[in-house]
Amino acid sequence: MSQIKTIVIAGGTHGNELTGVKLYSKWAADNHYYKHACPSAKIELVHTNIEATQVCRRYVDLDLNRSFANRLLALENPSAYEIRRAKELNDRFGPKGENTKTDLIIDVHNTTSNMGVCLILSTRDPFTMRASAELVHEFPNCFIYYQPEERGESPYFGTIAKADICLEIGAQPHGTLDASLFAETEKIVLRYLEMAEEWNQGILQKKPKKTVDVYTQYKDIDYPRDKFGEIRGMVHPNLQNGDYKEVKSSDPIFISFDGKDIPNEEDKSVWPIFINESAYYEKKLAMSLTLKTTEEW
Ligand SMILES: [Zn+2]
Repeated sequence: MSQIKTIVIAGGTHGNELTGVKLYSKWAADNHYYKHACPSAKIELVHTNIEATQVCRRYVDLDLNRSFANRLLALENPSAYEIRRAKELNDRFGPKGENTKTDLIIDVHNTTSNMGVCLILSTRDPFTMRASAELVHEFPNCFIYYQPEERGESPYFGTIAKADICLEIGAQPHGTLDASLFAETEKIVLRYLEMAEEWNQGILQKKPKKTVDVYTQYKDIDYPRDKFGEIRGMVHPNLQNGDYKEVKSSDPIFISFDGKDIPNEEDKSVWPIFINESAYYEKKLAMSLTLKTTEEW
């Protein structure tokens, strides 16, 4: 992307993830908090899942952040609130694809996993890579998760823009706020805006690349289950809150209710994230395994 002309900052894509909801409210009430950061772009704010926030739930009918695949956006007269909302948001900020009105979406989420500020990139977009590498060096609590996606089929809100960054901030219980995490999130979103300005001025491209650890999506794994589909184990205590830490082959990964270790079945080291995320029990996802590399971004 040569110039970033339109930026959308979103909060409340999941209604009970309050860091983004409150950042939206604060900034929507007074644009002096962010307007100066990137004068060369049009910046819009959006509270994405309004109805879910009103009832302080992740979603009302179904997950809004799984509703932006092309086949869902093409549905006519859908009954689910979130699909209707996805179509509205796509009309306003898309349409998803090459002719989208939006260059960059920054979507602010929370996680109950101990992930600090996780910068999720779904493409190898030069701006999001360069800016995220700078942030990892500025903020010790910041990590890069690369989750490659086929953009048309990807269900995430950010994919209706040309490029996107999804922030996952935690550990924070859903429906609550953590003041330190809120302050850090606000600084990081502002820094993305400032770096979009530097990008538009041609400054960021000239800065030397930085060495970063990149955690790349490898495999999502479910909890161990019995023949009735009931969970028969928990995240191993060695792993709880240990996002981004190496788990070697055959290291324990779960523990049964009677205290038996259940090992990592991979034949190599993995670096789990989204460990024990509460919203993912319904998705049958105990954690996402990543592979760690060191790259120049
Ligand atoms: Zn979320």
